[in-house]
Amino acid sequence: MRALGHDTNRDPANAPHVVVVGGGLAGMAAALTCTDAGARVTLLEKRGRLGGLTWSFTHDGLVMDNGQHVFLRCCTAYLDFLDRIGSAGDVFLQPRLDVTVLRPRAGGQPQTAVLRRGPGRAPLHLAASLSRYSLVPPAQRALIGLAAIPLARLDLEDPALDNQTFEAWLARHFQGQEAIEALWDLICLPTVNLPAREASLAMAAKVFQTGLLTEAPAADIGWSRLPLGVLHGERGLSALRKAGATVHLGTAAEKVGSTPEGTFRIFTAAGDGGLQADAVVIALPHNLVEGVLPPEALRKGMRPSQLASSPIVNVHVHFDRQVMDLPFVAGLGTQAQWVFDRTAASGATRGQYLAVSVSAADSCAGVASEQLASETVASLGDLFPRARHAEVLGSFVTREQHATFRASPGSAVHRAPQRTLVPGLAVAGAWTSTGWPPTMESAIRSGRAAARAALVGAHQRAYMPLATGSRKPEDLSDTQEAE
Ligand SMILES: Cc1cc2nc3c(=O)[nH]c(=O)nc-3n(C[C@H](O)[C@H](O)[C@H](O)COP(=O)(O)OP(=O)(O)OC[C@H]3O[C@@H](n4cnc5c(N)ncnc54)[C@H](O)[C@@H]3O)c2cc1C
Repeated sequence: MRALGHDTNRDPANAPHVVVVGGGLAGMAAALTCTDAGARVTLLEKRGRLGGLTWSFTHDGLVMDNGQHVFLRCCTAYLDFLDRIGSAGDVFLQPRLDVTVLRPRAGGQPQTAVLRRGPGRAPLHLAASLSRYSLVPPAQRALIGLAAIPLARLDLEDPALDNQTFEAWLARHFQGQEAIEALWDLICLPTVNLPAREASLAMAAKVFQTGLLTEAPAADIGWSRLPLGVLHGERGLSALRKAGATVHLGTAAEKVGSTPEGTFRIFTAAGDGGLQADAVVIALPHNLVEGVLPPEALRKGMRPSQLASSPIVNVHVHFDRQVMDLPFVAGLGTQAQWVFDRTAASGATRGQYLAVSVSAADSCAGVASEQLASETVASLGDLFPRARHAEVLGSFVTREQHATFRASPGSAVHRAPQRTLVPGLAVAGAWTSTGWPPTMESAIRSGRAAARAALVGAHQRAYMPLATGSRKPEDLSDTQEAE
């Protein structure tokens, strides 16, 4: 992207100054988009590290992530971001979608089925695999196409999609409970972070269209070989510093306001006069953003804080021996929804360390961590017979109460476009209006779009100063900005 409004190649001191508030993926992507456009950038992050909801810590000698994160091949903005920060070589991406799904059976080996990408074009690339997918009864398997085909044709721009749940739509398209649980929810839960009975049809349709029904390779699954704190946080910090950005860790922004000169002032807890900026990107979570934004920034009735949160819980179990032979499996009818082998990334010198991810984990609230851990160890024994005889060297539970916003019907109205009603002031975050569910891809897309909106707004303010510093709502097309 070209620098806006100033010839920064000649005089960097004249480049617009952009302050980015929040150093999660969205904030880092926004900051790098601005530095790459020639702007001077200052990033403020409340915590002592970058990476936001993707972070790592050490427990009992193992490096653990707060929660297992995966991405799909269709997450092109995320992959570009990894490339930009020098992390592209540290993720693994399946050459072909290949998911083993296990359902426990009393006392014996679990029932096993595989979802694998075949050679055909989408959506036929999954036809062979689905025809053998024994976790859905044959009569219901025969009906899957009656939902898949109309799902592929839904118009994602139709606001009515956000008025209903995915499950209600599936039921109208001949899908029974077994098919919903064993197939549709298998994908909906980890991507939307809600089951079909609660997920907005708009979000589920986006996932299935983009991931499974349009391009055959789109749903190949990828994950980090490194702790996320390194993959995103440390690499992001050095990329930003190399690009000339100033990063203030441990610095919380309290309020952003417009100045009479048409610039912005960002106030922090330091209590001084704050930072001056030509443009601002607020990349804060949905539940915090309204506290920092000036009230005139969002359209009347748009309340990101009204987006409830959906939690994710991870149970980390270190066995004294290898109990699972695959890099990951999905579990059905068990607490162990998705199980990942994180031994190599954790630096473990013995045994096997599994991270068990539980999406939409409302039922874990109020359950003591010891109980969650022991139930999970029992669930792992149901899935992997070797685990029944293995010693547990350690276990740990991580809970993220605000892992994502709750993408249920009616949520779209509170997902703000990145461009606010104040020129030069933009919002970013996985929760903003990207058309994607709340994922890393959504965060990166939002950050890039917010950076562009902020820079364009700064340019407008510099060359077409407004008396009030804010545009009238009718001057703006309130469209989605993220590409
Ligand atoms: C356990 C878990 C598992 C997940 N699994 C996946 C997955 O498999 N695939 C996937 O794509 N996505 C997954 N996600 C979602 C993904 O992590 C998020 O969508 C994404 O990281 C959000 O990034 P963000 O920058 O929008 O927000 P955040 O990461 O929340 O960043 C906001 C930043 O703002 C900072 N901040 C807050 N207040 C202030 C302030 N006043 N001043 C300055 N800074 C402030 C915060 O400290 C934080 O760093 C998962 C999330 C969790 C928690």
